[in-house]
Amino acid sequence: MNPSRRRFLGSVAAAAGAAAVAPAALQAAPQSSAATQMPERVAYLAEPFPLAHVRLLDGPFLAAAQVNDAYLQSLPGERLVHMFRITAGLPSSAEPLGGWEAPQTELRGHFTGHYLSSCGLRHAMLGSDAVKQQGDAIVAELAVCQKANRNGYISAFPESFFDRLANDKQVWAPFYTLHKIMAGCLDMFTLCGNRQALEVAAGLGDWTGHWLKGMGDDQLQRVLRTEFGGMSESLWNLAALTGERGYAAGARRFEKTSFLDPLAAHRDALQGLHVNTHIPQVIAAARRHELTGDPRYREISHYFWHEVVGERSYAPGGTSDGETWNTPPGQLGKALSRYSQECCCGYNMLKLTRHLYTWSADPRYFDYYERTLWNSRLGTQHPGDGGKMYYFPLQTGWWKYFSSRTNSFWCCDGTGAEEFSKFADSIYFRGPSALFVNLFIPSELRWPEQGLTVRQETRFPAAGGTTLRFTAGRAVRLAVNLRIPSWTAAGGSVAVNGRRLEAFANPGSYLTLDRTWQSGDVVELTLPMALRAEPLQGDPAQLAPMYGPLVLAARLGGDGLTTAMQYDPDTAPAGAVNGGTQVAPRGRAQGTAEVSLPYGEEPEAAHWVKPAGELQFAAAGTELVPLHQILGERYAVYWQVHRGPRGGA
Ligand SMILES: [Zn+2]
Repeated sequence: MNPSRRRFLGSVAAAAGAAAVAPAALQAAPQSSAATQMPERVAYLAEPFPLAHVRLLDGPFLAAAQVNDAYLQSLPGERLVHMFRITAGLPSSAEPLGGWEAPQTELRGHFTGHYLSSCGLRHAMLGSDAVKQQGDAIVAELAVCQKANRNGYISAFPESFFDRLANDKQVWAPFYTLHKIMAGCLDMFTLCGNRQALEVAAGLGDWTGHWLKGMGDDQLQRVLRTEFGGMSESLWNLAALTGERGYAAGARRFEKTSFLDPLAAHRDALQGLHVNTHIPQVIAAARRHELTGDPRYREISHYFWHEVVGERSYAPGGTSDGETWNTPPGQLGKALSRYSQECCCGYNMLKLTRHLYTWSADPRYFDYYERTLWNSRLGTQHPGDGGKMYYFPLQTGWWKYFSSRTNSFWCCDGTGAEEFSKFADSIYFRGPSALFVNLFIPSELRWPEQGLTVRQETRFPAAGGTTLRFTAGRAVRLAVNLRIPSWTAAGGSVAVNGRRLEAFANPGSYLTLDRTWQSGDVVELTLPMALRAEPLQGDPAQLAPMYGPLVLAARLGGDGLTTAMQYDPDTAPAGAVNGGTQVAPRGRAQGTAEVSLPYGEEPEAAHWVKPAGELQFAAAGTELVPLHQILGERYAVYWQVHRGPRGGA
């Protein structure tokens, strides 16, 4: 341990103590300046609450979080560290995991990093000490492996993978994997106060800094053609937590100029790029802006977000087809397949959205967040066993395909394990004397500094609206900002303590209730939902029916769908590549969703879709239900609309 390291570890001990009282969701959220050793340069207009201050109440998000938690708790810790021990030359008799964690797979170890993040997040969100202990035990094992490696390195594969990277030889994505481990350790520090986890992360940061020293700039730019995840983001976070600027220097070197320069110039050069390789680079740019105030990185973040959300996203909020942006902006007509919307992309776009939202408190960011959360994230976990989806097929006639328990460990299993551990992190935000209510999810917010508890009770989206109940130790003056979503139909209203107010707010803005709150106060918000249909970018004849924020899926039946067609098997065939795992549905798409409309009828008004019960609809003789509820059958998101001839019936 060098002297400068000893100094910063002394100072972070205090930070870890503070984190135990008010843990900040580092990986999932921008930090308040109190949590970092490096002062932040951005004035946040809305900041997240500590994850531990928001509890989910009964509803679809809590149910999904519990399924995820039960699955992750069932994974034995010794299996998660098995290949780390073997790589460090230490004995292990644990049974190796399969899939992308199998001993011969080059991405092995990535899921252990995600697992640590999920331990930190679940400890904070669900209040589980057992989960913290599972995370602590894995961190302790990683520390043992790191000590055995003697140079800060820690991974489930040998350092020679990085030699291959440096020498332009084929290798999967070693820095991608290292990022997951570093991020997992940082989350265990910020969310569980585990100081050893920060030391492990710092050791990895030191090893990375040493590796970078041997790299010329041109050579490094070649290295950065291989997926490297959020290395830059984690190094920025490490710099922020330790105050060690050497990590910031490393973070700057993990910037792929051929990607960032066009974004800074507001030029969409995204066609042909692998999507999930690049979103994390923009999250890192957002973090750089927060820690340095450099406006170039704010511009990069803004431009990228608007380009992806406005020009390259589908109705459910996801992006990518075959993991790539294959088309010019706004041209998704030929970009629907069984390989659409890699789930990791939705996870990372939500992370980026949170950063941008905190700088502006603009509620329109939450139109996107809510849409993506409900349609592209919530329904991507199997409600029975916690298996996750990789792609989200958007070509008509495919179905959902789920991972196995111990023989998949896809990238999307990792990001899914985190996503389903942090549903409570974006419901509420705060400003000076202001509360922002952004999502309609049953939950209870504890705000000790204001002596306030807010309980949100809602059947949303089965019912359009929500109810907030206040409990206050003393009367408290506060501007409560209720998000009025852009999808809100006519007739919205708000009542305080049973009295309906005259005023309302425009869709896509906040309705502000600035008053003194006391125990027993009740706010009832009514948000009427209506049917509409959104055209696919670049093809107005393909439309996705929607109800409020929900994408509706046409039910095309499950005839002929076998288990093997819907689930990655839990055993690998002998000699299989990538641990024998397959990530997309097997078989053939079948079925159609088509509707003929008379000339002059506006298809976007969705008069051709009719309500047929609570969250049930019908069109052209076919049932429709919310996309997140579809399971075990073929579906269609986009309908082909045929127009009658001018003057025809
Ligand atoms: Zn993925």
